[in-house]
Amino acid sequence: MGIIGRTIKWTLNAIPRTALQRVAGWAVPALGLLYMGKGRECPICGSKRRKFLPYGYGPVREDALCPRCLSLERHRLLWHYLVHSPEQERFKSLPTILHIAPEVCLMKQFKRMYASKPQNYITADLESPLADMHFDVQQIPMDDQSVDIVICNHLLEHVESDHKALKEIYRIMRHGGMGVMLAPIDYSREKTFEDDTITDPKQRAEVFGQYDHRRIYGRDYLERLRAAGFEAEEIDYAATFTEQQRTLYSFGCDKLYIVRK
Ligand SMILES: [Zn+2]
Repeated sequence: MGIIGRTIKWTLNAIPRTALQRVAGWAVPALGLLYMGKGRECPICGSKRRKFLPYGYGPVREDALCPRCLSLERHRLLWHYLVHSPEQERFKSLPTILHIAPEVCLMKQFKRMYASKPQNYITADLESPLADMHFDVQQIPMDDQSVDIVICNHLLEHVESDHKALKEIYRIMRHGGMGVMLAPIDYSREKTFEDDTITDPKQRAEVFGQYDHRRIYGRDYLERLRAAGFEAEEIDYAATFTEQQRTLYSFGCDKLYIVRK
């Protein structure tokens, strides 16, 4: 790992996330100047670089973070899917989106997409000042069947009861709606591992891989999504590209998890 990778890993682990979000907006693009060149292209913001920046809390991944929009591999993969797959048809009429724990890189694109109907793109978070609504996903203060699309990535592994959260998302979704529910998954595990007795952040980091995770999803993740009532599908979207394209966009190997009601 190079000096930049080591510095990023140290920074992520040593500095609180709220402070990081404040400086990332200018510090990361400044770092990106070191990576000017060709070879990588971000499908979200269109920036071209020699490489993406290294990133990661535990093991640092090379070629991960876009220095311009701060997207990671999974964000680029998901955005490409949403705007290029047949799913893109859904967005043409600007249906109501609820984006929970919104990723800034995706939020910016959705706000642009929804410029003529901004009230139909709603962001929500437990506390982020960037979000329109603030709530716990286990108790969503919205009416039954009031949104068409829910985007909720890398959140369920942090929530006390993911089943409760999924039931709530199911309740507020209209029939015919869809949801994007990406999560980190350990494919070597048959069953999801969770242990509520582990509450110490240090111990959680050791057991679950991150200080604020409560479980490690296994190959039963789809079943857990279906248990809330959804139809659920795992899509290996990255596999539909050539190796050259996967390198160009640095898509990583995450799979997309799409639910439908
Ligand atoms: Zn970008």
